[in-house]
Amino acid sequence: MNYYFHIPFCRSKCGYCAFYSEPSPDPGMFDAYLDKLERELDAAPLPPPDTVYLGGGTPTLFDPARLERLFCLIRQKLAPEAGTEISIEANPETVDREKIRLIRSFANRISLGVQSFSAEHRRTLGRDCTQQALHHAIDLIRDAEFPQWNIDLIYAIPGATRRDFFNDLATAARAGAPHISCYSLTPEEGARLCDRLQPDDDEAAALWEEIPQQLAPWEFRRYEISNYALPGHECRHNVNVWRGGLLRGFGPAAASFDGALRYAQAASLTEWLAGAPPELDEIPGAARLNEIFAVNLRTASGWTPHLWSRVPGADGWEARLRLARSAAKETSPEFFDISPGRITLSSSGLLFWNTIAEVLL
Ligand code: SF4
Repeated sequence: MNYYFHIPFCRSKCGYCAFYSEPSPDPGMFDAYLDKLERELDAAPLPPPDTVYLGGGTPTLFDPARLERLFCLIRQKLAPEAGTEISIEANPETVDREKIRLIRSFANRISLGVQSFSAEHRRTLGRDCTQQALHHAIDLIRDAEFPQWNIDLIYAIPGATRRDFFNDLATAARAGAPHISCYSLTPEEGARLCDRLQPDDDEAAALWEEIPQQLAPWEFRRYEISNYALPGHECRHNVNVWRGGLLRGFGPAAASFDGALRYAQAASLTEWLAGAPPELDEIPGAARLNEIFAVNLRTASGWTPHLWSRVPGADGWEARLRLARSAAKETSPEFFDISPGRITLSSSGLLFWNTIAEVLL
């Protein structure tokens, strides 16, 4: 089982972000959140975790005492074994040596939201963080010797040149991060600076194509459309979820998948605290399978008969081969690489994944 905890608090709201989170929260809200989480964790039998992911929001907005309470709750209720991947998202301006030490005693993977190493481009994004805080956070993470860690970057920021983004990639790689996530700027509906932050799609595609070459000197490999890692440093939580693994989400807006149904908790702290029931995403089983099939085609390794057989309720491999061949006919044969033992997308297929997904769904 893969567990996701959504910590729905942020210091302020970044200009491009429409994820559910409460900016500038009152610490009383933290306690209400943790009390409710404790009740939820008490309420159900929970199978042992393969992965645990603490995301948000900004989990590191919690002070050390509340972070420790969160970690103790998870330890007590889920009893993760030594090999369990435990990830936490962090923002540079909310960590210090004490918090990083505490996090390291609990988690073996940390993901740092850098977005850009340029103060100017972070300002464009409406992202509140100083250069000093950013570099200090990286030093702290390096000193703590996390076996797995990630830097998040955003590209196609208006006003940023190609060289600026390539410098960001090189800076992240030189910092020693064995995993780098690169997201094209996609301001979501409802984001504070949505109108101002419209990326140039052609430029974004050109940058995406160039990323593997820029990261080649450090031996990174693209293992998913937006994710690059040194061998053995892929995020196991995400890999499991992309492959249709079971997911149990806690906290407002957290999604779950029980093998048949997907559901999402209310995207409102108040409603979640009041016990609002989760919203069910009721789609027929065949459509669910196609959705899982499409999602994992975003990865470089795609599907093999063995991986597909592990998807809950999976149909036969022959049916998947037929579907992939028919999608290739409808889009472009160049988008797919289909053999009896594996179905993947080519580099151009990954670039047009949205079009392929529409056909598959
Ligand atoms: S991008 Fe992250 S830190 Fe910024 S508002 Fe969204 S969840 Fe919070």
